[in-house]
Amino acid sequence: MDDLLKLDQAHVWHPYGPMPGTQEPLLVESAEGVRLRLADGRELIDGMSSWWAAIHGYRHPVLDEAVRAQVGRMSHVMFGGLTHEPAIRLAARLVELTRMDHVFLCDSGSVSVEVAIKMCLQYWRSQGRPEKRRLLTWRGGYHGDTFNPMSVCDPDGGMHALWRGVLPEQVFADAPPVSLETSYVQHLSDLIEEHASELAAVIVEPVVQGAGGMRFHDPRYLHVLRELCLTHDVLLVFDEIATGFGRTGELFGMDHAGISPDVLCVGKALTGGYMTMAAALCTSRVADGISRGEVPVLAHGPTFMGNPLAAAVSLASIELLLSQDWQCEVRRIEQGLHAGLAPARELPGVADVRVLGAIGVVQLDHQVDMARATKAAVDAGVWLRPFRDLIYTMPPYVSTDDDVAAICQAVIAAAS
Ligand SMILES: *Cc1c(COP(=O)(O)O)cnc(C)c1O
Repeated sequence: MDDLLKLDQAHVWHPYGPMPGTQEPLLVESAEGVRLRLADGRELIDGMSSWWAAIHGYRHPVLDEAVRAQVGRMSHVMFGGLTHEPAIRLAARLVELTRMDHVFLCDSGSVSVEVAIKMCLQYWRSQGRPEKRRLLTWRGGYHGDTFNPMSVCDPDGGMHALWRGVLPEQVFADAPPVSLETSYVQHLSDLIEEHASELAAVIVEPVVQGAGGMRFHDPRYLHVLRELCLTHDVLLVFDEIATGFGRTGELFGMDHAGISPDVLCVGKALTGGYMTMAAALCTSRVADGISRGEVPVLAHGPTFMGNPLAAAVSLASIELLLSQDWQCEVRRIEQGLHAGLAPARELPGVADVRVLGAIGVVQLDHQVDMARATKAAVDAGVWLRPFRDLIYTMPPYVSTDDDVAAICQAVIAAAS
């Protein structure tokens, strides 16, 4: 075990880490249900769902079987000129659930945002309006780590100062307030009107801003954006990579407002956390616009596009979710988080405690000491990954009331 960790430290990059690594990661041997089993024998309840993804927990028999069955047929074939049942059925299911028309399958969330942006820019090029190539978003967002998604991440959190001259310069509105404020609606309206002639699209995370700051906002802002985009001839992109598949209490964040964008990104929980796959979906209007252009194709085609293993497990994960009263489970977890995190309000240094769906957030009034907070949670038997001033959890939907209570106690231990 020490050998492995030495090799890890010497050679393996970890997310947002230096090289060689300075913080020793925990070595995970296996995982089942909501529990990670460490190489040293300890067990931790996973309060992170492996970054929003493992909504059904680990080694779910239905998902394991879907992967096994697909391995027995084929693990992968190229998607250019070939197609297969798992990808077709997955795309059809996604279209049905999202009210979109067309699906582009890709390898990761960041790539799906790249594809979404390419769709929007190419749509306007095809209309003979290539000057419409900038994006507008609100501050506090997160859309991935490749360069175009980075350009619409929060400018501070996304380290835009470091990348000046490299990142495309986008238009930023202030971060959305929690509740509906007419002055903020006016701010959005003014900004979109002012930049309409150069804007290809507005891109936002609906209802919950994830890794950009774990902030929630009134779903009526989505109506406002939908109206403004229609009025000013700007496309609307929703990034549901974190919010999709029930996390906020509705199947998608946009369902809180009952509206649809022109382009939609999904990822993370799409595969139930089994492997990497994401999708960019669009309406017929966008697809027709692109396909009637001078270059009548969407020039994108990842090597592992439509991977059959990932498509098969995605389909199984969606069917598993919809086969149960998932909304009731998410509401149960929401209540558990409300009750369990309430005492955090009394702690010194805590600025805010908020819960929406199966998401619980404790925000401090200072930067969290990541190593100490993580250790406090691990000592309480729970895996958490705090960042900036945030200690937060999004448990797997299969977490029991006792699991949720244990997670809340660990959040409080970490905050203390
Ligand atoms: C995680 C995330 C992404 C990036 O997805 P990756 O699979 O990590 O590339 C994009 N947008 C949102 C909202 C996310 O939460």
